[in-house]
Formats: sequence, structure tokens, C-alpha cells
Amino acid sequence: MRRFFIEQIKKNADDLCTISGSEARHILKVLRMTEGDQFVLMDRTGCRYETEIESVAGATVNVRLIRPLAGSAYQEAEITLCQALLKSGPMDYLIEKTSELGVAAVRPFACERTVVKINGDGMTNKLRRWQEIAISAAKQSGRVAPADIFKPVLLTEVMQEMSNADCLKVMLWEREDSRDLKDVLSASAPESRVIGMVGPEGGFSSKEVTSVVDAGFIPVSLGRRILRAETAAITLTAIIQYELGDLCIRGSR
Ligand code: SAH
Repeated sequence: MRRFFIEQIKKNADDLCTISGSEARHILKVLRMTEGDQFVLMDRTGCRYETEIESVAGATVNVRLIRPLAGSAYQEAEITLCQALLKSGPMDYLIEKTSELGVAAVRPFACERTVVKINGDGMTNKLRRWQEIAISAAKQSGRVAPADIFKPVLLTEVMQEMSNADCLKVMLWEREDSRDLKDVLSASAPESRVIGMVGPEGGFSSKEVTSVVDAGFIPVSLGRRILRAETAAITLTAIIQYELGDLCIRGSR
């Protein structure tokens, strides 16, 4: 069954809900769906309903909420990815792939070696595009709710916010030579909340590594190969899901 996504499912007294905007356009203009057609409607809070189109009024669709669908039965790892801003293509790709893999949030940041500026031209449009990519990825992969994509800030601000988080925090650092992700994750199970940090194309400076470690992040290696930042972020997400989350058929562990 097709899936559509709106901000919040609000049902009226008749168990009807109205869909407008881009999802309604997609339903009506692209897919040419009509009265009686059924689909799954999801919202940002994780609500999911099986629905049927009751009526169409101009550019809005009224659906009947047939029955709520249970949330995922899987053990979900809550992964927050703090990601240095990358150029557009790689950043779009990273948002799409980590969203498919079930990352809870992506917090982009600027640091010494990022080329993209947080207040540069078009950042508002970029953020909107990333959020749309996350919504499409949620629909395509059947996620209960899309990943939250945050407005980019400075590395110092991300560190400050994350320094009080009481969970496993790892920083991918290609020059770490004593600890790898595998060891850190197996030592931390059954923790299922993880904050991961990945650097920009040019890597972190030594000064940044020191302050991120001071903020409670454990520097870890993904092995001897130097990966592109987006490959590193996707690999990190997949490995955490495999070790602590739901990259399996019946849930985890
Ligand atoms: N500037 C560096 C590479 C940076 S790779 C150089 O050219 O030598 C971009 C980011 O990906 C890094 O900041 C790091 O977070 C991550 N990364 C890439 N390969 C990695 C590895 N083998 N281990 C850990 N992190 C890695």
C-alpha cells in the first residue's frame, strides 16, 4: 500500500482527516488517486493509519481513518548523526541513505575545514530540500516517522548541546589508532542511544578533535581505509543498527 506523510494527523468527529499541499498534489495529480483508493497516512509524531479517500475538494483530499497501525515492533536504536556540512551532492546522498537506515536525527554543523557556510546563500532552501529527502526516504523505507534534519550550526554549538547527553558518543576519526567502532559498540551494548560525529571532506583539525573529546565523544576508527565523509556516515549508521538496532528480521539482540 502507498504511504503518504503529513505533519500531524488530526481526525475530526467523523474520523476524517484533510490532506493538502504537496502530498495532496502527489495523490491527485501524479498518482490520479480517487474516492475509494486506500493508502497509509503517517505523521511526524509516529502515528500511522490505514486510510481511504472519502472525497476530493479542489486541491485537498479528505480521507477516512480506517484503523491505526501499530508502530514498529523492532528494537530501534536512536541514532543522532552530527555531520559536518558537505557539498550539496554528497550531503543530499548522506541524508537519503542514513534516513533509509533509520537515523533519528541529522545535525549538520560547520567547522574549520567545511567549505559550505551555515549562513550562506540558499541554506534555507537546502534545509527544506534535506527535510523533503528525509520524508521521501521515510516513505520509501516504511519508517514510522522521518528523520529530523536540524538547521546547521557551528561545531561549538553542537558540542555544547551534546556534552550533557547521557549516552554513547562516538567521533569518527581516521587517525585514531587504538580504538575501533566495533570494540566500543560491543562494550556499550545494550545502550541503544548513540550520538555519532563525522567530519568534513578535509577532516577535523587536531584542535577540534581535542575539544570534541573533551565534550565526551570517544574517537574511533573505521579501519585503515580513508572513506569519503558520506561513506563514513552511512557505514557508521549501518554498523550501529546492526550492533544495537534493527538491521535484522525480528528486532535486535
Ligand atoms: N582529510 C582526511 C580525510 C577525511 S575523511 C584525509 O584526507 O586524510 C572525512 C571524515 O570521514 C573524517 O573526518 C572522519 O570523520 C570520517 N572517516 C573517514 N575514514 C575514516 C576511518 N577510516 N576511520 C574513522 N573515520 C573516518
